[in-house]
Amino acid sequence: MKKSIFYFLSFLLISGGIFAQDQDQANAKTGHKNNNKFKQLYDEFSTPNMFRSASGAPGPQYYQQQADYKMDIELDDENARLSGNEIITYYNNSPDELKYLWIQLDQNMRAKDSKTPLIQGSGYRSATSASRFVGAYMKDPFDGGFNILEVKDIKGNDLPHMINRTMMRVELPAPLKTGEQFSFSIKWWYNINDHVRDGGRSGYEYFPDTDNRIYVMAQFYPRMAVYSDVEGWQNSQFWGRDEFALPFGNFEVNITVPADHILDGTGRLTNRKEIFSKDMMKRYKKAKLSYDNPVMIVTEEEAQKAIDNPSKKTKTWKLYAENVRDFGFATSRRYLWDMMAVKIGNKDVMAVSLYSKEGNPLWEEWSTKAVASTLKSYSRMTFDYPYHKAISVHAKRQGMEYPMICWNYGRPNKDGFYTDRIKYGMISVIIHEVGHNFFPMIVNSDERQWTWMDEGLNTFLQYVAEQDFAEWYPTALSPGHDKYPSRRGAPKNIIPYMGGDQDYIMPIMTKGLNLPQFGNNAYAKPATALNILRETVMGRELFDYAFKVYANRWKFKHPTPEDFFRSMEDASAFDLDWYWRGWFYTTDWVDIGIKDIKKYYVSREQTKYAEALAEKLNVPVDKLSPMVYFVEESSDEFTPTVKEGKASEKSILLKEYLMDNFTEEERQKIEEPNYFYTVTFEKPGGLVMPIIVEYTYADGTTKKETFPAQIWRYNDNEVSRAIASQKEIVSFKIDPDLETADIDVSNNSWPREVVESDFDKFKNKIKQ
Ligand SMILES: [Zn+2]
Repeated sequence: MKKSIFYFLSFLLISGGIFAQDQDQANAKTGHKNNNKFKQLYDEFSTPNMFRSASGAPGPQYYQQQADYKMDIELDDENARLSGNEIITYYNNSPDELKYLWIQLDQNMRAKDSKTPLIQGSGYRSATSASRFVGAYMKDPFDGGFNILEVKDIKGNDLPHMINRTMMRVELPAPLKTGEQFSFSIKWWYNINDHVRDGGRSGYEYFPDTDNRIYVMAQFYPRMAVYSDVEGWQNSQFWGRDEFALPFGNFEVNITVPADHILDGTGRLTNRKEIFSKDMMKRYKKAKLSYDNPVMIVTEEEAQKAIDNPSKKTKTWKLYAENVRDFGFATSRRYLWDMMAVKIGNKDVMAVSLYSKEGNPLWEEWSTKAVASTLKSYSRMTFDYPYHKAISVHAKRQGMEYPMICWNYGRPNKDGFYTDRIKYGMISVIIHEVGHNFFPMIVNSDERQWTWMDEGLNTFLQYVAEQDFAEWYPTALSPGHDKYPSRRGAPKNIIPYMGGDQDYIMPIMTKGLNLPQFGNNAYAKPATALNILRETVMGRELFDYAFKVYANRWKFKHPTPEDFFRSMEDASAFDLDWYWRGWFYTTDWVDIGIKDIKKYYVSREQTKYAEALAEKLNVPVDKLSPMVYFVEESSDEFTPTVKEGKASEKSILLKEYLMDNFTEEERQKIEEPNYFYTVTFEKPGGLVMPIIVEYTYADGTTKKETFPAQIWRYNDNEVSRAIASQKEIVSFKIDPDLETADIDVSNNSWPREVVESDFDKFKNKIKQ
């Protein structure tokens, strides 16, 4: 190899490097703005241990408790009361000895002395409706709390217990040691709330014209709290909003309701032959073989008959569920019922819908198909849906999930008319709530503590499933729509929130109860963060593999945020601490812009820089090795003999270097850059993110280049890049496809484009 090759290579390879180094030194000299955003999360994360590994997988001594339930439940339809007798068998798999057990009494949130109404700040509005006034100031509060009639051990001895609002402590006769189990019974009843009037995740809707109700029942029985290596007892009170933490177990539940009610719930119906009419049985068999369209099991005519002529008798529905964390059911004589089969892996799952005629025509058309579609999408992204059925229940203003069953809103007007908003709202809520089977019903995170772990992950998958649904059922889209109009997940949709008033924004890693913007904070932001991580930062292949690893490691177990964060890195070789730190632990936002662009030409003429260099090296200037000098175009340092921008003249310059070193053929293959720029990026937003730049060339073509987020590691404010190009670049644009949720795009282009960002549009809209 001849000597001069080295110079040429230095020119090609190091030119960018010289700039980068200079720039880094310059940045370092400004002496500021390294906010250490790439610091590992050792301070924030709990230390890995034998229960939870550093890889994010369950550790060798991982354990979880189990609670089995045998329950006899009776609905008093006349008085809207529910009563039950349950036997809980609790298995202590923890290494600890337990002196007492904690049981959740969620209905006490609606007790007369509930403290829930007292933690809301309030004030008088100028005017309020008369009914609201009566409800707020003139009525005795509704008493919907549990009446605990007895707590007994299996021999019938009373067990001492203490109720602290929504939590009941039951004293054990003897400490429960590792590996031991304890059975006890609780007898209870409570007044069921009208969820349409009084709110709540369960209750009834009343139909005054025919004097009957639709019941969607959940949190209806005293439920075991979780005891874990992370929280000990998760006995944080239920204030009504943040959801639940529940151990897995087997449920044997007998529910007695009016004989003309149709009922479905968590688990297998074990007395189908007793319950079903011959017609229903025939239709059910047909439904099991119908993969494209739902089959009606109970028709509108049949439901109408029951409404017109209500039965005074009762019937008992028997359900059995294995390895579920909760139990819910829906019952009414108003219900229509349809089902169809869907192939998941190598088995068939029944997609099921329960709805009153008020849900039609929407529900008969789309509910069961949305259930089937969701199971397929989520199974693809995680693991095969393990249960034998998934039910979507129509319930006014509800959107709530339980294992195998969920309540969903979406009701057309009385004349059957519905808007796009109602239709898409209904399909979306079904996808969302059915999706919750995966998170948190199977990947059983602690909802009381971390709302985002189920809502965020689920809303992210909801976005994926909505796009699938539109692809598989294009006729569900309204005219003019070629994609499903997902409300959450697309980066641009999170901009008004992330760019909004910081006084009302909390980090994702905040307990649900304390979130001022619940939906944005626990649903939309984590969903968007994961979507950006998938599409822009990691790419689908790496993300999807790692996400699946997390889901499979933690299905039927209790993961923590660290287990998720660590698994995503462990399975992808992607250091994401900076991403978790920025998106999950802070309220920073994305704003990256172009601060300045300088254009250079190259010259062989020795500039002042050469003189300085020669002096430093202590050699005469003319003894310096051949070099290429970058001269800023606006510089008046000297008049160049070779002007950047004129490719032919410059190639003469380069040939002088090339002549000796390459064959003619080799020379042909070498790409010579003709145009040289330094782009200075600025970052007014706190989040470090990859810089995606689009170059538009003079010939109209474009090229996208992405600099990884680590480009910000020395300076959190600005960074420069040298860009050498064969073609002249006429404009630069950051995040051209709006994939990073950049809240202010007015600084994204060079030359500056006058653009109204989404954020500005939003601001202006608010001002109006
Ligand atoms: Zn949800």
